[in-house]
Amino acid sequence: LPVLAIVGRPNVGKSALVNRILGRREAVVEDVPGVTRDRVSYKAEWMNRRFTLVDTGGWEPDAKGINASVAAQAEVAVDLADAVLFVVDVNVGATATDEHVVRMLRSSGKPVLLVANKADDARHDYEAATLWSLGLGEPMPVSALHGRGVADLLDAALAILPEVSAVAREEVGGPRRVAILGRPNVGKSSLLNKAAGEERVVVNELAGTTRDPVDEQVEISGKVWRFVDTAGIRRRVHLQHGADFYASLRTSAALERAEVAVVLIDVSQPISEQDVRIIDLVLESGRALVLAFNKWDLLDDERRRYLEREIEQDLAHVSWAPRVNISARTGRHLEKLVPALELALQSWDTRIPTGKFNALIAELVAEHPHPVRGGKQPRILFGTQASTRPPTFVLFTTGFLDPGYRRFITRRLREVYGFEGTPITVNMRVRE
Ligand code: GDP
Repeated sequence: LPVLAIVGRPNVGKSALVNRILGRREAVVEDVPGVTRDRVSYKAEWMNRRFTLVDTGGWEPDAKGINASVAAQAEVAVDLADAVLFVVDVNVGATATDEHVVRMLRSSGKPVLLVANKADDARHDYEAATLWSLGLGEPMPVSALHGRGVADLLDAALAILPEVSAVAREEVGGPRRVAILGRPNVGKSSLLNKAAGEERVVVNELAGTTRDPVDEQVEISGKVWRFVDTAGIRRRVHLQHGADFYASLRTSAALERAEVAVVLIDVSQPISEQDVRIIDLVLESGRALVLAFNKWDLLDDERRRYLEREIEQDLAHVSWAPRVNISARTGRHLEKLVPALELALQSWDTRIPTGKFNALIAELVAEHPHPVRGGKQPRILFGTQASTRPPTFVLFTTGFLDPGYRRFITRRLREVYGFEGTPITVNMRVRE
């Protein structure tokens, strides 16, 4: 999907605008457990067109950090979005920070719309007009809070947003797209450098700009892979505030464009909440997943015992992900990444024929019928795989299935088909 990013200084109303654009949709709880923290990207829809909305508004650093953090927001947006909404508060007007960011946005060549927010009534339109001076074209007066001007804004946004994401545009049959993820210092750039070696081919350069390339193609053991958002890996951003949020933003944006994620974990350190959060973002994105335990050269026997316990405790929910134990420094077992990536992608692409799926469901129901609830026993009438990438199944039933029963079905599906390296979802539709 094409990506629309919302950028602006703290308090200009970015989050209000996101809520307004998402409307009720935001309240729809997705059927993915445990992944509600640190959301920065949302599926949005307007006039039957779907796009991804990237919200940088969760990031409101204190006054000292404003310039760096707004610049970093803009940087992510410029690298990874197809179009940008730049939000200014009409009551404040354009500040020096705004002008700085505007220069960056303009030099990127990405389409930008200037949103003059908090224009709650027509009296504000005069102030909005003064924002012409920013050189981003016509300011669009909007009240995110009351909805004024938002429909016009979305019409204009759709007009500048490509049908398919240009930054993600893939050649059919081209190299598969990999995101290398992990917290700072886990070894992402070391891995990239080691894997790329001399074979580094830079792709997806933004024409006519001085920006770093967004993707790189790398050959490993005779096969070419496309690593997405390598600019985000190679570029060091030093932020006093909001470094975590910046990382989440970058992670979400990279996932948007990847098919499979390699999450690096530093075995010399305890597995942290941040590691788990990054894995959760992968699960939420529905991308395939490979876990790479890096810095294996630093592992001693004692740390190894702790590590095994931590994996059991913190990573039990992704026990299906292929694991490789590597050292980006020494190059140990890097070649094992390739079969792991291939396995994960193959699972991600898997389609189970409807006949086979229903035969399995019938077997499972015979083996372990759904418990009777209030004198009734919900029956599964029929099931089918609604989509691949990741495999998503739908069961048509005569009543709600217990969460425990759905977990049973999911677990058995994994036992039978493996699905190593891909999340899977089992949804249900109740037929009255
Ligand atoms: P990034 O922030 O995730 O890109 O991490 P870097 O690739 O910059 O690595 C951070 C630090 O860890 C650097 O000092 C690397 O040399 C070191 N490092 C990376 N991979 C390994 C590894 O496999 N073994 C050891 N011992 N050090 C590593």
